[in-house]
Amino acid sequence: MPTNLSPTPPCASACGGQQLELFTPPPVPALSAEFDWERNDVVIIGDSGGKDSGVLVHEVCAQADAAGQLHKVRILHCDLGRTPNGHLIEWPGALEVARSHAALYDVPFTVRRSRRWPSLWDRIMSHGNWPGFFARFCTSDLKTAVGRDYVDEVGAGLRLGRPVRAGYALGMRAEESRARSKKPVIEQHRMTAVSLRDVTTWLPVHRLTTDDVWKAHRDYSIPWHPAYEHVGRLSCRACPLAKREDLIASARLNPGIFAEMAGAEEHLGEPFKKNLTLKQIIELAHDRQ
Ligand code: SF4
Repeated sequence: MPTNLSPTPPCASACGGQQLELFTPPPVPALSAEFDWERNDVVIIGDSGGKDSGVLVHEVCAQADAAGQLHKVRILHCDLGRTPNGHLIEWPGALEVARSHAALYDVPFTVRRSRRWPSLWDRIMSHGNWPGFFARFCTSDLKTAVGRDYVDEVGAGLRLGRPVRAGYALGMRAEESRARSKKPVIEQHRMTAVSLRDVTTWLPVHRLTTDDVWKAHRDYSIPWHPAYEHVGRLSCRACPLAKREDLIASARLNPGIFAEMAGAEEHLGEPFKKNLTLKQIIELAHDRQ
């Protein structure tokens, strides 16, 4: 699928029905926590290539520029690898969209992959089951652990003679779920270790609605992935946490990886989602061709 860098993203109202967001968060306090640019040596932005990442990069870079701290910003894309048949786990083009976010603000862009797991496929096969809401090993092992290693890499490069102090900016939004609405905008990250690194999690776009996110894409010409014409969320093409309709749409557009994963589902003997198998998703996608 070609990467669409058009400055005209899907209109917010058309996309609204496809979003995961089902939760109306409580009113956001007028003043959100301020990020301490002076205290931190570096700010790393996790960019999946999705719409929340796009607006996140804009928000962090705009704040950094205003504070004269843009030189501290780095963008990290975690590569989730390929299946044994060579299919990308992520949507093709997601990495390129993330790279174009960095180019828009002229900040360093880095791609890293887990040192332990060549791909998310290997991690799932080792685990013997699919990720779920209460088993987010995909995120913790292939994103958070990779981010921690990158913090250490950047810290070592700065030759500070003390543990690096890093901000870690993520694109979570309150509207996405009740759990996310309760997350503080700024808190100490659990990857903090006294003698190694001091990491602050920062959620700069926590307050934004989906409409706000797409408006920012239009207003600031932020690149976005063309898959949003079909699905509400990006990242992995087959995510067990995704909505049923998004999975059916993705299976229609990505028959190769869905067929391969359906074979894995049979091998594992575990359904992809509690009440929905990959075989069923493929059949539903086929019916809508
Ligand atoms: S998109 Fe889904 S499967 Fe992929 S890392 Fe995120 S939660 Fe895990």
